[in-house]
Amino acid sequence: MKILVTGGAGYVGSHTCVELLNAGFEVVVADDLSNSSELALRRIEKITGKRVLFYQVDLCHKTNMREIFEEEQIGAVVHCAGLKSVAESVILPLEYYYNHLASTLILCNTMQAYGVRNLVLCSSGRVYGMPEHIPVDEACPVGNNVTPYGRVMVMVEEILRDLHTADPRWKIMFMRFFNPVGAHPSGLIGESPSGTPNNLMPYITEVAVGEEKCVGIFGDDYPTPDGTCIRDYIHVCDVAKGLRMALQHILALPDDTTGLVDAYNLGTGQGHSVLELVHEFEKVVGHPIPYEIRQRRPGDIPVDYCDPSKAERELGWRAEHTIAEMCRDAYNWRRKNPKGFGN
Ligand code: UDP
Repeated sequence: MKILVTGGAGYVGSHTCVELLNAGFEVVVADDLSNSSELALRRIEKITGKRVLFYQVDLCHKTNMREIFEEEQIGAVVHCAGLKSVAESVILPLEYYYNHLASTLILCNTMQAYGVRNLVLCSSGRVYGMPEHIPVDEACPVGNNVTPYGRVMVMVEEILRDLHTADPRWKIMFMRFFNPVGAHPSGLIGESPSGTPNNLMPYITEVAVGEEKCVGIFGDDYPTPDGTCIRDYIHVCDVAKGLRMALQHILALPDDTTGLVDAYNLGTGQGHSVLELVHEFEKVVGHPIPYEIRQRRPGDIPVDYCDPSKAERELGWRAEHTIAEMCRDAYNWRRKNPKGFGN
C-alpha cells in the first residue's frame, strides 16, 4: 500500500519513511523542501534499498495535493509537515497558524474527495502547555498556557475531531511526541537545522564538535533536583516506530470500523535535566563540554515528561533507545555530516 508522508524529507518525516519502507509499505513524499533537503530522500533510499516517490509541493495549495491523489493510489497519510519551532512560533504566530491550518484543511479536504480516511497526525506534547499534572497522560487537559505552536496543534486536533464527528468512517490518531532527538544509527539521516540551532541537543552537539564555544544553560534555579529544566527526550527512531505502529493499528481495523479518533503520547516516560543531558553527552564524546548558566528562557516549563503507557497498552509500542544512544547517534550524524544536508 502507498502511504503519503507529508514533510517526508524533514527530521521526523525522513526517519518515518525508513520505518515504513522497512515494514513493506510504498512511500510517497510531499514536501516543499523549505526546511529540508532532497538529499534526505536519497539517503532514505540508501538505508532501505527502496525507492521513494517524491512530489515537491507546497501543501498549502489545493491543486498540488489533488495532483498527488490523482497520480498515486494513496491508502493512508502520515502528516508530518509543518513549522515546528516553539520559540519561532511566538515571534511568527501568523505563519504558524497559516502553515498548519491551511495544510491540514487542504490535506483532509483532498483525502475526503478521494475517499482516503486513514490519518496519523504528528502532534506534539506541546499541546498540554503547562501540564496540569506530571507525568502528563492523555487525560491531561490540552491548551493550558500554550505557545502559538502548541495552540495550533490543539486546533488541528480539534478540526480533526470535528471531521470525525461528521464522518465517523475516518480513522485518525494524534501522536503527541515529546522531545525527539538523535539520528538514524547509520549517520545517513538526522536533524539539519538551518543556522545556529535553538534546541538543546543540536546545540550541545555543536559544542561537542567545537563549532560553538559553550552551552548556555537557561536557568539553574528551577524547582528540580539540579535546578535545570527536565524534559522527556526520545530517540527519533522510536518516534518513527510509534508512527508506523499507529498506522498499522489503523490499517488492521476492518473498513467499517467507526469511532477511531484518539491521542497517544510518545515519550520514554523518563525526565532528564539539561545538566544531565550535557553530562551524558560528555560520556559519549569522552571529553568535557563547556557550559555556563544563563538567564531563564521566557515561557520554559520546568518539568515536562509524559506517561507513555497508553501507547504500550493499546499499540504495543515502547521507546527502546537509551539517552546514551540518543547522544551517540546525534554525535555520529553530526560528525559524518558537518553541514547537515546543506539545506
Ligand atoms: N535549553 C538550554 N540551552 C539551550 C537550548 C535549550 O538550556 O541552548 C534548555 C531549555 O531552556 C529547555 C530544555 O533545554 O529547558 C529543552 O529545550 P529545547 O528547546 O530543546 O526543547 P523544548 O523547550 O521545546 O522542550
